[in-house]
Order: sequence, then structure tokens, then C-alpha cells
Amino acid sequence: MIYNLTKEELENYFLERNDKKFRAEQIFKWLYQKKVKTYEEMTDIKKETLKELEEELPIYRVELVSVERDKDVNKYLFRLKDGEHIEAVLMRHDYGNSICVSSQIGCNMGCKFCESGRRKKVRNLTSGEIVTQVLQVEEDINERITHVVIMGIGEPFDNYDEVIKFCRIINDPKGLAIGSRHITISTCGIIPKIREFSDLNLQINLAISLHAPNDELRSEIMPINKAYPLKDLIKEIKKYVEKTNRRVTFEYILLKNVNDKEQHAKELAKLLKGINCYVNLIPYNETENIQYERSNMFQIMKFYDILKKENVNVTIRKEFGSKISAACGQLRSKKEEK
Ligand code: SAH
Repeated sequence: MIYNLTKEELENYFLERNDKKFRAEQIFKWLYQKKVKTYEEMTDIKKETLKELEEELPIYRVELVSVERDKDVNKYLFRLKDGEHIEAVLMRHDYGNSICVSSQIGCNMGCKFCESGRRKKVRNLTSGEIVTQVLQVEEDINERITHVVIMGIGEPFDNYDEVIKFCRIINDPKGLAIGSRHITISTCGIIPKIREFSDLNLQINLAISLHAPNDELRSEIMPINKAYPLKDLIKEIKKYVEKTNRRVTFEYILLKNVNDKEQHAKELAKLLKGINCYVNLIPYNETENIQYERSNMFQIMKFYDILKKENVNVTIRKEFGSKISAACGQLRSKKEEK
């Protein structure tokens, strides 16, 4: 389908057919700027070409099933061609509209606190299935999306190629023209892919789901840590920062009596010492199926203060979706368990 192709791939498609390279740009404009949904509307391209395109690269978007709306957050449920469901969340910030997209159906990372991971990976999403989540949400709100975070269902670096293609498509000036610095990939820490990503030297933001300051605890709540332990992960991140000159974000969910004690905050500060980074503390979104609880605000503030005192750049994530089951994977679970 057409939304799977970067502009460069589409240029090659036309060149292989002895057509003009600039067709790709024409089509990108129709799809991403005028946002048409049929080839017929592309009036500056020959009928024959359009017919071929229709057969070889159909225009297909993920299908919008339902929207839950709250003051500054919308939660979207989409159905895919094979009947599977995925979700995306729109958050309205003072700086713009930000969307959180899914990258896989299910997830194999097995993080103990995460709703999405309760279902094993069924398959990767294609770049076009990720791109059209953005298009559908833009159409729903009739406003431009300015920021994208890849933090929905799935592990983006377990679907590396499609996720990078997705980034290239939305970043293209003739595509959705979303600036690299407005795109964030969040990973649980798949080291070889972090290395590959840093070699691309893009300006895209990298966020690491850390959630624990030592191997023992991290392996307990995030099994991926057994394959890629903290020491190696931190070493890789240091290389990334050195190479790209970009600041990384560490996400840290606060789980009551698990990783939220004073000693954890001190250990975390020590672990991150000297790294150009900032820490985003995330109040845990409780879900019915998982026993972890959210730390209380007092504990969260105490954790925050310790990091501050140790000169760590730290923020507490603004809360959006707790009322409308916006914890990663909750909406899909509700739908499929019905
Ligand atoms: N797999 C990627 C991206 C998807 S998860 C990653 O691990 O980063 C996006 C973020 O949401 C991760 O930091 C994840 O740990 C966090 N998360 C998962 N379940 C959550 C919950 N119930 N409440 C708050 N954050 C959660």
C-alpha cells in the first residue's frame, strides 16, 4: 500500500517504470498535504498511471473504530485489515498536538507492569499502518499534529526498519513535515538497535524506558534487562550522546514499594551521573489485570527532590489519560476481552 513507501522508494518505483522521479513528490503532496483518499482526485497525473497505482499500491488507512474523548486527550481504537486492533492517543499540550502511536500488535518484551505486553507479539505494523494512525487522528480533530511519540503498543526497536521508514515519511518536507526534533522513539533498551539508530545520526529524540536503577530490580520487572543489562545499556547511551550530541530521556515509572524508595533515587542519580540526559518520572497508570500500584504523590515528590538535589534534570510527567484508560494497551484489552 502507498503509505508504506518513503518518497525515495516511490521515486525509485517511478524510475523503474521509466516515469519521472517527481511523480513521487506529486503523490506525496496529494496524500499528505491535500490528504486525498482516492487516486481519482490526483488530477495532475495520467489516468493510466493512476490505475496502475490503484492496483499496485492501494490507498488504505487503518480503520477508526472508536474515540474516547476527554478534556485534552483523545484515545483512538483502530482496526487493521486482519481484524486486529491497535490504539493511538492524542494529547493536547500548550506547545501543540502530540500523538502517541503503536508500532506492533502485541509485544514480546514482557515488562511486568505493562498491559500491552500481556499479549505476545502477533506481528509488526507496517510503516503505512503507523503513518495512517497519524492521518486518521488529524482528520478527526481537523488540526495539524505537531509532535509524535512512538510509545504506544509495541517495542519500536523490535520493528526497527518500519519504524525508521515511518519517521522518514512523516519527517519528509513533502510528507507531513513533522520536524525530527518533534519525533521521539521510546525503547526498553535493545542495544544493537540503539547503535544502528545512533549511526543514522538523525535529530530524532531517543527515550529509554529505564524504570530501575540496578540490574537485580530491572531484570525482575523488565526481562529484556537479562539480554541487555544496565551496564552495557548505559555504556551504549553514553556513546550515543557523544556521537549525536543529543540529550537522551530516561523514563522512570514509579511503582509503589518496588522502585520508588529513597535508596533507588540515590542509586539512579549515581547511575546517570555525567550523562547529558533528563529523567521523566511517570506516575504509574494502574490497570485491572496487573497488581502493581502507583506511588503516592508524597513519595513521587520525595523521589523528585532527591534527584534534583543530585543535580539530575528531572520532570514529573503531566498526567493525561488515567480517566479514559489511556495506559498503554488498556483500550485494546477492553475491546478484545469483551
Ligand atoms: N516498548 C517501548 C515503547 C512503548 S511503552 C518502551 O518500552 O519504551 C511506552 C512507555 O510506557 C514505556 O516507558 C513503558 O514502560 C510505559 N508504560 C507501560 N505501562 C505503563 C503504565 N501502566 N503506566 C505508565 N507507563 C507505562
